[in-house]
Amino acid sequence: MMKLGNRYEFHTHTLLSDGELLISEHVRRAENLGYEVISITDHADVTNIDEILSKIGEFIKSEGQYYKIKVLPGVELTHVPPQMINELAEYSKAKGAKIVVVHGETIVEPVALKTNLYAVKSKYVDILAHPGLITEEEVKLAVENNVYLELSARKGHSLTNGHVAKLASKFGANMLVDTDAHSPDDFISQEFAYKVALASGLNSEQAYKVVSLNPLNFIKKILDL
Ligand SMILES: [Zn+2]
Ligand SMILES: [Zn+2]
Repeated sequence: MMKLGNRYEFHTHTLLSDGELLISEHVRRAENLGYEVISITDHADVTNIDEILSKIGEFIKSEGQYYKIKVLPGVELTHVPPQMINELAEYSKAKGAKIVVVHGETIVEPVALKTNLYAVKSKYVDILAHPGLITEEEVKLAVENNVYLELSARKGHSLTNGHVAKLASKFGANMLVDTDAHSPDDFISQEFAYKVALASGLNSEQAYKVVSLNPLNFIKKILDL
């Protein structure tokens, strides 16, 4: 098997929302596992976007220089009215978010209908997390707007990975394996991420692409490289 490379994690939570760790410990633990990149994407709605992004920004500016791992600021727009997703995503980018994740229509939470649709229609959205029973139409829009679809390593959210992988493969949508980590035990290795991709029904070549190549393409996209 080809080398899987280092891990890039784009969807995680800290004490800025419902995660367990202070940013410093969260980042340190990811660094200690050999991660190349960690994105902090705490749950956000209209009330806390500024706060989340200014706190992560403060961390990066001061403590950030002492870590080897690259820390990226982001938000996860969570349970916001779907009609507001585009404007809140645009606002988040203006406030310094490098990554906008949208909390998709996981089957284990009462996420508003059309959340997936509005997320994949927005050019300011980078990742549609745990998109549940995403439709073919939505997957096609994700391809058009280059929104990456998440295969989740998280309990519950991962129930529909097989469905997501099947449609994403059929229409050529980009996928990422992310943890949605809320606590230190949630961090995974590249080997485990690869298994999550295989368990979603992808073949070894597809799984390798999702785990090892897509993160590099994704980071070029979000950092405009
Ligand atoms: Zn959460
Ligand atoms: Zn999340």
